[in-house]
Amino acid sequence: MEMSSKLLEKAVAEISQLPGIGKRTALRLALHLLKQPTEQTQMLAKALQSMREDIKFCTQCHNIADTDTCEICANPLRDRSVICVVEDIRDVMAIENTNLFRGIYHVLGGKISPIDGVGPGQLTIASLVDKVKTGTVKELIFALSPTMEGDTTNFYIYRQIKDTGIITSAIARGIAVGDELEFADEVTLGRSILHRVPFENSLAK
Ligand SMILES: [Zn+2]
Repeated sequence: MEMSSKLLEKAVAEISQLPGIGKRTALRLALHLLKQPTEQTQMLAKALQSMREDIKFCTQCHNIADTDTCEICANPLRDRSVICVVEDIRDVMAIENTNLFRGIYHVLGGKISPIDGVGPGQLTIASLVDKVKTGTVKELIFALSPTMEGDTTNFYIYRQIKDTGIITSAIARGIAVGDELEFADEVTLGRSILHRVPFENSLAK
């Protein structure tokens, strides 16, 4: 795309690096910013920069946070004996939106996927297993998306903690197989947590 300004060209090139944003959309966004007061762009740039530099990950559950402990883990009203295991931060947001879960979370940071080169060591599985072995956990709810990788990950964790005797459950599959958790509507997702099933029953026969 030939542009009369190298500065504009550079901005468009940066914006179009974002997922789902093509060159055309990037140009539209850049031109939009040019029409706004300068402060608008400064605020946007500053917000992005501080998010990138200052955001932390909760040392307990690996959720995103502004402090070392996220708001959920820091909340004394949350039940620490029930841990919901999720793939990523978006799943925490989706489940929180249902307002039906009062336990805490453990964010794995992905799922085991040999094809994508993701092994158990790249996920936060070890710290989850350690947490379970402290003896304070009564139930682990697997809430990964019902895909093959999700199932593999669940089973990998299950094998390591099954001898501890804690309750393991999986969210009910109101969500169609292969669907991503974050796209499930709140009612379906909320219901699938309430109607969770013993983990053994969720395994494919
Ligand atoms: Zn936390």
